[in-house]
Amino acid sequence: MVTRWFRLAAAILVIAAGFVPPAASISTQATSSDPGEQPPPPQTSSGHNGMPALLAVVGGTLIDGTGADPIPDSAIIIEGDRIKAAGPRRQIRIPPGAIPIDATDLTVIPGLIDVHVHLIEGIDVRSFLEHGVTSVRHLGDTTLPWITGLKKRIESNEIAGPRIFHCGLFVVSEPPLKPEIYPPEALDRFMVMRSPADAPAIVRRLLEAGADVVKVKMEMSPESLRAIGVAAAEARIPMTFDSGGDTGDYDAVTAFDAGARGIEHLSGINFSDPAATEAALRKMIAVGAFADPTFMVLERTYSEDRIAAREEFIRRFVAMGGTVVAGSDVPVRGIMPGHGLHQEMARLVKAGLTSRQALMAATGAAARALGYQGIVGTIEAGAYADLVIVHGDPIREISAAEKIVRVLKGGREVHPFPEEAVSPGEPQFR
Ligand SMILES: [Zn+2]
Repeated sequence: MVTRWFRLAAAILVIAAGFVPPAASISTQATSSDPGEQPPPPQTSSGHNGMPALLAVVGGTLIDGTGADPIPDSAIIIEGDRIKAAGPRRQIRIPPGAIPIDATDLTVIPGLIDVHVHLIEGIDVRSFLEHGVTSVRHLGDTTLPWITGLKKRIESNEIAGPRIFHCGLFVVSEPPLKPEIYPPEALDRFMVMRSPADAPAIVRRLLEAGADVVKVKMEMSPESLRAIGVAAAEARIPMTFDSGGDTGDYDAVTAFDAGARGIEHLSGINFSDPAATEAALRKMIAVGAFADPTFMVLERTYSEDRIAAREEFIRRFVAMGGTVVAGSDVPVRGIMPGHGLHQEMARLVKAGLTSRQALMAATGAAARALGYQGIVGTIEAGAYADLVIVHGDPIREISAAEKIVRVLKGGREVHPFPEEAVSPGEPQFR
């Protein structure tokens, strides 16, 4: 009887959410001219009679991603693709007709955000969802048509994948561009500034392509860096940078003075110079920088000493009130989509963050770094209904964030697939 109820509830949920089994990965689905490929059924987040689907996730411990304390015995009301209400169950009115999702003895956390990925051709985007990563920030290394096309195919549910926020193209400036890094045939992955005067037009083109962030690479003259920073600030689009190591083409303080508010790989900080390190730390606190240390990828190339210096830096940064965000740099150096973010969160804990801070780094804090706070990364009224139901308590032990029972993105179940969710003998919910 119980199993039957679950099958029924799951079936209703599937219908209500307009579920379609997603493609395994873009590598197998990338060309729409594949023979035999069926056009996807129309997708809506509507339920019966065109009314938005209503779901109620009840009984779980809610960690809402805002930094607030966990709420035991919570209720989250989802209408269509958005959260309508969330809080203690006794304070939330559960609308009649809402489809229940029982989260008793489980924890509900926001869909996770990986702030540093490269969605290059062939990457398994569905794997992000399987690991609870419902949003990613793509920081370049593809062409514009590729990334905008992928985003569109995910938004239309042709492909199952995370929400994509992106930089469009890497921004670099001339001269000189090293041909081994910038071969002429690969220049369509870069936005090349030929003079500082190009900056407003470049930012405009990136915005027209739907960019959410300006990503500045290492090869930049200080003049171009300042000009692009001004143009980005005027367009109200955040800027982040990778200056290419400890002593790159420009240092972190120069980048923050130019308007950057994100720092990738802790680049541009000369850790062998205590005064320079101190200056970078103070500047980052002063401007409210978001630090994306990407420890996972750094420790694949850096010595233990160099990693230890960065861990110490991050501990001091956090102690001074700085905000750390979690980026995996997938698929660089074999890092896996989805799982890589959990590894990075664990790595942040190893570096000295609490599990709660590490979870924030991939939820509420990550959303602020993206400039999409209240829209993703938190479970609150008005935000997208992106949530992950897990076993255990991720703010006590961060690895619990990967003990995934169920993932919803925009109010629709994206993992596991409903068939699996009700597989005989393995009821997921009581
Ligand atoms: Zn990267």
